[in-house]
Amino acid sequence: MEGWRAGARVVLTAADLRATAGILRDMKTALALLLALAATARADDFAARAKKLQREAIVVDTHLDAPDQLSGKFADVAERGATPHFDLPRAREGGLTAPFFSIYVASAYAEAGGAARRALELIDLTHRVVDTHPRDMMMAASVADIRAAKKAGKLAVLMGIEGGHAIEDSLPVLRQMYRAGVRYMTLTHTNTNHWADSSGPFYLPDFDPKQSAVHGGLTDFGRDVVKEMNRLGMIVDISHVSDATVDAVLAVSRAPVMASHSSCRALDDMPRDLTDDQIKRIAAKGGVVMINVSSGFLDADVYRDFRGALEKIKPEYLALKKKYGKQPLEMQKRARALMEKLAHGKRAPWTRVVDHIEHVIQVAGEDAVGLGTDFDGIEDPPEGLDDYSMLPKITEELLRRGHSEAQVKKVLGENFLAFFARVEAARDSLAAEPPGTATYSSK
Ligand SMILES: [Zn+2]
Repeated sequence: MEGWRAGARVVLTAADLRATAGILRDMKTALALLLALAATARADDFAARAKKLQREAIVVDTHLDAPDQLSGKFADVAERGATPHFDLPRAREGGLTAPFFSIYVASAYAEAGGAARRALELIDLTHRVVDTHPRDMMMAASVADIRAAKKAGKLAVLMGIEGGHAIEDSLPVLRQMYRAGVRYMTLTHTNTNHWADSSGPFYLPDFDPKQSAVHGGLTDFGRDVVKEMNRLGMIVDISHVSDATVDAVLAVSRAPVMASHSSCRALDDMPRDLTDDQIKRIAAKGGVVMINVSSGFLDADVYRDFRGALEKIKPEYLALKKKYGKQPLEMQKRARALMEKLAHGKRAPWTRVVDHIEHVIQVAGEDAVGLGTDFDGIEDPPEGLDDYSMLPKITEELLRRGHSEAQVKKVLGENFLAFFARVEAARDSLAAEPPGTATYSSK
């Protein structure tokens, strides 16, 4: 049967038309399905690539407040939930390599006394935590230590002092802190100390930045502290300091400097974040800006809501201040309890973290940015980035936004390591310099 088609006429019946329409509809569905499948495959691809990258990369976080949490309520870090945001299982899930444990000395110790003792107690606590888990953790104090820990599959724990009042105005105490393993110092916390101005206590209802501007940046002794830190190889951290102090530090420091846990003021106009100009100047000197993940640091609406909530508790706060103003540690405890009554407002979406990372890249280049989460020191991590276990989401989003794997590795840790190596090199170049002998004088 060869010729039967030749004579056949094509007649489309109503049924044929209905069938054709059906086929077209099916094709549309199939196409949508295919596109969806392709998108899922792409998403799976990004997720898989992120997971692999996270395993390979050195992941540094320059600010983790676990010591303060553990000093309040001690727990074994091998147990899930040891602190709000940190423990070994969640650190492992997130691919964390090297957190800086914050040796956070509250401003109250500057008034009450005992700041150096508080720092030493938290340094001791950090060593004890690491000593308890020799197979999973090791103390680290250099670029080489961090790389060795990664090779050994261990968590490298470093230390940074938060609050320059911890050295009690003494260069010998600063040197002892270095010998105890401390590798950075945030020059101030929210208090202006005897030698450096702070950006102030932005989280208090009666915050007034003018009250923190006492020295116009750094005093002569403050400049000597920075120079001695350069000589030792202790990273100078400008998170928390005032804008005038940032200028003074950039002028005097002989090594690049870092912001261990600050974000971008262009995206959220709050005093703890950095201006584009500051970010550019920090980067131009070889420094890094490590992004803080607090919702209030990431999102202007969240910060505005927070300030609004503070206005409401202002009368109660001022009454407390009247009663306990002369007992700084008691005042701190009561103020903290009052703050906890603040209704937890909105949280930023976690992708805002990536917006801030990209902003630094845009303003100052891809070598200038990393992560300084402030986990365990904040109560408002962004929605979807609740603790360390979720870090790979940042990696995945960076890949999705078109950053190369090499660029993502820089953000995760290589930028910090290159910066830390520059600080170590500055130290080596100053090896012939004798230890600083400057002393603080209240006159
Ligand atoms: Zn802080």
